[in-house]
Amino acid sequence: MERIHTLVENQRTFFMNGNTIDYEYRKENLKKLKKMLKDYESEIYYALKQDLNKSKHETFTTELGFLYSEIDFALRNLRSWMAPAKVPSPLSHKGSKSYIIQEPYGVVLVISPWNYPLQLAIAPAIAALSAGNCVILKPSEHAKATSQLLASMIQATFDSSLFHVVEGEVDITEALLKEKFDYIFFTGSSNVGKIIMRAASEHLTPVTLELGGKSPAIVDEDANINLTAKRLVWAKFTNAGQTCVAPDYLYVHERVKFKLMKAIVKQIKSLYGKNPLYNEDYTRIINEKHFNRLLHYLDSGKVIHGGNSEESTLMIEPTILDKITWQDEIMQEEIFGPILPILTFKNIEDALYEIKRRDKALALYYFGENEKIQQQVIEFIQFGGGAINDAVYHLANPYLPFGGVGSSGMGQYHGKFGFETFSHQKSILKQTTKIDFPFRYPGSKLNTSVVKKIMK
Ligand code: NAD
Repeated sequence: MERIHTLVENQRTFFMNGNTIDYEYRKENLKKLKKMLKDYESEIYYALKQDLNKSKHETFTTELGFLYSEIDFALRNLRSWMAPAKVPSPLSHKGSKSYIIQEPYGVVLVISPWNYPLQLAIAPAIAALSAGNCVILKPSEHAKATSQLLASMIQATFDSSLFHVVEGEVDITEALLKEKFDYIFFTGSSNVGKIIMRAASEHLTPVTLELGGKSPAIVDEDANINLTAKRLVWAKFTNAGQTCVAPDYLYVHERVKFKLMKAIVKQIKSLYGKNPLYNEDYTRIINEKHFNRLLHYLDSGKVIHGGNSEESTLMIEPTILDKITWQDEIMQEEIFGPILPILTFKNIEDALYEIKRRDKALALYYFGENEKIQQQVIEFIQFGGGAINDAVYHLANPYLPFGGVGSSGMGQYHGKFGFETFSHQKSILKQTTKIDFPFRYPGSKLNTSVVKKIMK
């Protein structure tokens, strides 16, 4: 606890001394971060293979490649993001100038999960460093190899007064949360999110909570079935379904259910081979606890594809479940694994009501060609973000904010939204001393009707 306290204090002093304010300094840090990732690429591939059996291809497309893009995007835009934004002043403020300054918060805590253990640790750090903060990162203890690598490569690259990793289990996070931070950025489950928010409230520390939930994928009768199946299979079974925005369940128009199921099975075979359990490129389940939790779900409905597993390697086949009802156990919690239950609907409006009644999802996907219905889905249901005729892919566009709503989280990041999340928007009115309009003062000679016009 004492070491943690000293670390936070050192970062606070470093920040207070104004070390992180300069544009060039921030730019250098982003470049250093990118070089660090490049230099350690082979160790990164190895760590992710150890933690999750991730292939190089998947590690690059879902972790490293994403981070390189975020860093490049920040480098290209940092100067304009940092510039004070001039805003108009109303007639009542004539003679003054108004602008908004993006001010760093100070010392921020980033707590990350195990499922994309590199991306979800470093992406918030990119935003926090761009915005001129000092960062303490607490990676998930469940992705041990990546956590250790993060600690060692960040220690070798950055001064601990700017950016440091604290490894450990829940007791360490609890010790960290006793400290006063200027911002806390948490990615993980909704249950732990509540613990984080409670602890943050003790210091009135603002938080971003990137949480999870059950993200539906709706497939309507006019959807392009083969392409829908291909995109859904990729979105669901990448990282063996351990993706916060993976389609949790399919909600399919009954007329196309059979055709879609056939197309999905075909795509599973095409993307993961006949025997995914022995596919070098298929991700495993993070640990035995989650492995057993997921196998328990196979008691719901009827397995129509997959269902096999290998305990020694913690692998579960891409699995499709039919004959599912909303009451089944698998429909009560986020699945977070390679099991895809299918529910059907007759009428899209009923389907939308059914989804709207539930917790607000982190993501929602609609597959169908009718633009009116697409619009209806977007307007009628609240969710963090999503896609029409695609799934998961929206999060890789740096021009789109990424975050949840309601029980799926609060706040957002990626691209400029991350920079803004880690900056306090400070309002400044620069007033002239050349004139001083009297209307705001008591005893003003102007009658109220004129004042009303000025202040309109
Ligand atoms: P988790 O909530 O169990 O753990 C996340 C982090 O919190 C870890 O660093 C862990 O050490 C810490 N932690 C765990 N218990 C704690 C406690 N009692 N007190 C303090 N800290 C604690 O989540 P997870 O299992 O690592 O990740 C899976 C969840 O994260 C899923 O719900 C998933 O949807 C969600 N998730 C969300 C996003 C997103 O961007 N919205 C991304 C990935 C994962």
